[in-house]
Amino acid sequence: MAFTGAGVSAESGVATFRGAGGLWEGQPVEEVATPAAFQADPDRVWRFYEQRRHSVARARPNPAHTVLAGWQDRFPTYTLATQNVDGLHQAAGSRDVLELHGSLWRVRCLSCGRDRYEPLVPLPQLPPRCATCGAMERPGVVWFGEFLPPGAIEAAQAAAGTCEVLVVVGTSAVVYPAAGLVGIAAAAGARVIEINPAESALAELADVVLRGPAGEMLPLVNERLREA
Ligand SMILES: [Zn+2]
Repeated sequence: MAFTGAGVSAESGVATFRGAGGLWEGQPVEEVATPAAFQADPDRVWRFYEQRRHSVARARPNPAHTVLAGWQDRFPTYTLATQNVDGLHQAAGSRDVLELHGSLWRVRCLSCGRDRYEPLVPLPQLPPRCATCGAMERPGVVWFGEFLPPGAIEAAQAAAGTCEVLVVVGTSAVVYPAAGLVGIAAAAGARVIEINPAESALAELADVVLRGPAGEMLPLVNERLREA
């Protein structure tokens, strides 16, 4: 199993927003990415996500995404879970990615709940409207204070509890659910490999720690796997 965070996409030029202390129109990003902010001013929140979609649409997968996609063909029970919402794992060829924080490329109807893929940049209409019922749609991402998609987090926990090796890439894994997944895997006897250029609390649980950018470290790990 591989579990990824913002560090994987940073090398593709995708800015880290969640918990980054960044500002949007003078306000902390944390105050834009909430249900209350959307209720108060949906146009403004949609402008924020439209800008993120523009920025991510220009980004390309890096060697870390490519290695993680390749493992699905090598390991029959491989699971890839991510906290990223940028879709770069899929752009690198990964299938069945567990997107724990949702996706910038999905939108959901506030009224009938219809959930759909929306790849167009720019969006033809802002805010977008549901083709079925005409109601406003919301970004398909998980906001601060919201529950994670139950299907995705349950599948990730199940995979963590049965995997032999968990590779944690580009996340400090100190906040839920990251910390939870690593704890589950470690408690079940999995080997935990951490890849992160920065020191993190995760190192205590990890059997192997590789301090370096994912785009450099993962190709090296992959080379060793090929020799094995
Ligand atoms: Zn609808």
